[in-house]
Amino acid sequence: MRRPLIAGNWKMNGSSAFAVSLAREIAAEAAGAVDVLICPPFPYLPAVVAAVNGSAEKVGAQNAWHEPPGAFTGEISMDMLTDVGCTSVLVGHSERRHVLKETDTLINAKIKAARAAGLQAILCVGELLEEREAGQMSAVLDTQMAGGLAGIDEQVLADVVIAYEPVWAIGTGRTASPAQAQEAHAHLRNWLRTRYNPAASERTRILYGGSVKADNALELLQQPDVDGALVGGASLKAASFLPIVRAGCQVAG
Ligand code: PEP
Repeated sequence: MRRPLIAGNWKMNGSSAFAVSLAREIAAEAAGAVDVLICPPFPYLPAVVAAVNGSAEKVGAQNAWHEPPGAFTGEISMDMLTDVGCTSVLVGHSERRHVLKETDTLINAKIKAARAAGLQAILCVGELLEEREAGQMSAVLDTQMAGGLAGIDEQVLADVVIAYEPVWAIGTGRTASPAQAQEAHAHLRNWLRTRYNPAASERTRILYGGSVKADNALELLQQPDVDGALVGGASLKAASFLPIVRAGCQVAG
């Protein structure tokens, strides 16, 4: 069985005091049957890593640059993330695809660089509302998967997590229904089966993200192909994030 992963994406929120205090509250409950990951803003990563030291809580970044250290003003390398104790990095979040115009080619380079640095890469994919309404969900997901995972073999895929995040559900309060989430996740798992093989497909965790909250998490996580959650807004308070962690534990049994 795939071990659920509950990940929090704090986006551009908080302060150092807030980050350390929230990380500690989550760490106190991070020892259950699910993996727990938080992705604070870059400046707070070292303090958060120190704050959760000795707990099962993992710390990741929301982005990084794919090139080796050099003349890339304002960027952060994958090795810098491992150096400060990060285990994971989000790649291709919809805000980076749509606001910062990241392409599948760039996202692919970032996944390769993340894995080469020993980081778990969380590849975010998802369709816009107009794409869903035009019946293009599967085609959009196929393009993002093929682009993001181009040239990535089964060994490298072993520590890649997929996050299905329909853009129309991110930060909108409009969640995919459990059936909609399951349909997309089954499609993604089938894509992995075809592109790789049944074993790789069954091993790969596929998270759902998009307005996950305490009151909808359990039903989403109970879907057979939903292996966890990538949580934005609700990850900014222990009181709203920990119930999602507990829902994951309940499903993991
Ligand atoms: C996200 O940013 O990845 C996300 C899913 O946000 P929210 O939970 O706020 O919709």
